Amino acid sequence: MDLTTYYDVISSESKARKYLLGKCFKNHQRFCPRCRQRKLYKLRDERFRCSRCEYTFHDFSGRWINHGRLTCVQWLSLLKFFELEISVRKMAQQMKLSYRAAYGAVSTIRMAILSHAADAAILLGGEIELDESYFGGRRKGNRGRGAAGKVPVFGILERKGIVQVGVVPNVTAGTLLGLTVNKVRRGSIVYTDKFRSYDSLMFCGYRHLKVDHGKYFSSGKVTINGLEGFWSWAKERLMKHHGVSKQQFPLRKLPRQADN
Ligand SMILES: [Zn+2]
Repeated sequence: MDLTTYYDVISSESKARKYLLGKCFKNHQRFCPRCRQRKLYKLRDERFRCSRCEYTFHDFSGRWINHGRLTCVQWLSLLKFFELEISVRKMAQQMKLSYRAAYGAVSTIRMAILSHAADAAILLGGEIELDESYFGGRRKGNRGRGAAGKVPVFGILERKGIVQVGVVPNVTAGTLLGLTVNKVRRGSIVYTDKFRSYDSLMFCGYRHLKVDHGKYFSSGKVTINGLEGFWSWAKERLMKHHGVSKQQFPLRKLPRQADN
């Protein structure tokens, strides 16, 4: 959302609420969040009851906006800060919220993004790049494959499409090819580096092209530059947050004792 629209939307709670409702219900047509029935009875204090399953709900029941008792204006401000990659600590300061409240809200936003990700079910196809990278750990020690204390992350990038990444327990052929087979349509062209875990790709029904970093550097199409670019982008983002712990890398709620 551009700043002009944003200022207008957050100028009052009712405008902010209307904006968010428009995102929840297409054409502002309310429906039952349980059974999607459109015929509803209006109750007092802005609640509704479904005519079919009798579920009683209000506008944001079951929505992520319902988490954490924040106003619509506060949510939209948090979203703007999130978009601008402002740290949680600064968000909390700017909005006069506790760190915990701001952290909880940002986790909710991240969860919402994750659960709406378009990658949930679709198969990737066409030209695919596969690569693993290591995140975190101490700066000293080995770099690259097998580096101690680092978390292996596997990435699948569809050229001109999306990238899917996930923490993996190891980088054996079994793990990496298993994930590939689940995510990538057979017959796709798959680019990798010369790591031997990828050697059996051609037996899994893919056209496998290996990048030789020395030799084919300038050979045009045979690259995994897309994913390598993504890794450095992702690492730069994480650096900004001074890294995330292994436990928090797949999302996790702030532990209780951090309450202040
Ligand atoms: Zn219902």
